[in-house]
Amino acid sequence: MADIIDGKAFAAKLLSSIADEVKTLAYKPGLAVVLVGEDAASQVYVGAKVKTTVELGMESFHHALPAETTQGELLALVRALNANPAVHGILVQLPLPKHLDADEIINTINPDKDVDGLTVVSAGRLAGGLPGLVSCTPLGCLLLLQDVIPDLTGLHAVVIGRSNLVGKPVAQLLLQQNCTVTMAHSKTRDLAGLCRTADILIPAVGRPEMVKGDWIKPGAVVIDVGINRVASLKNPGKTRLVGDVAYAEAAQIAGKITPVPGGVGPMTIACLLRNTLTAAKRLESAQ
Ligand code: NDP
Repeated sequence: MADIIDGKAFAAKLLSSIADEVKTLAYKPGLAVVLVGEDAASQVYVGAKVKTTVELGMESFHHALPAETTQGELLALVRALNANPAVHGILVQLPLPKHLDADEIINTINPDKDVDGLTVVSAGRLAGGLPGLVSCTPLGCLLLLQDVIPDLTGLHAVVIGRSNLVGKPVAQLLLQQNCTVTMAHSKTRDLAGLCRTADILIPAVGRPEMVKGDWIKPGAVVIDVGINRVASLKNPGKTRLVGDVAYAEAAQIAGKITPVPGGVGPMTIACLLRNTLTAAKRLESAQ
């Protein structure tokens, strides 16, 4: 039976170490979160981010804008946050309302304040091996992985999914750690066979329980990024969260595995605050 990689406990430890470091600083790291519109899920995510920022002793700048905000108004806000020295990190909550051009908004964020790691400059820095801010979920995957395997050199990692948000940055981070990385996607042939060659398997697809137990190499480490809401079998009419991995059968074969929920999910917000601290230290030392 696989060891469970407890992302909730790891994230709690990470947050507490960030809070300890914040206490030692002569300034308060500041995180600005921008929410446009009333999307219910986004409001919950933003609420959690603001609450955690304050709990860690950081400064929170919360901008809730109406759904009819124009591109020009949002660009002006991002530029003002870029220019504000008390703001070290800027996050624009996605998705934005359809009339807004998210690419232009995101790429207006100063890359040194891009705590979500979503600008083209951040992606380029990661690909080029330059110091920069790495998007939160991929960073969370790497930290969980390094906690169970401190030296990843030479291991074969299979990443399923090639999105700019998760798959590509995860693959770049693993390459930097000297893994041999294979990226799989919807056109990959014999995905199950490929997965069976993976010492490290990271599905980031968004298909409930797609990865079966017999896709997994015995003893492999499985980091399940997928978050999928499906109907609950026990409670008709209710839903439950599952990952991209068929957890019960995979846990019989894998060496170590993240659960869903409680695996990668809690790491994302912890890494956002870690990135805010990193950005603050770099910006303050550059002054
Ligand atoms: P995207 O939809 O942007 O990308 C999904 C990727 O999966 C694509 O590259 C796609 O391939 C690939 N894919 C789709 N179907 C298959 C298939 N049958 N076989 C192999 N590959 C397939 O999703 P994201 O990267 O944004 O997110 C992936 C998952 O991670 C989602 O469940 C999301 O909810 C979750 N997530 C979790 C986070 C967390 O905090 N834990 C944060 C962000 C995301 P192709 O490119 O060929 O279409």
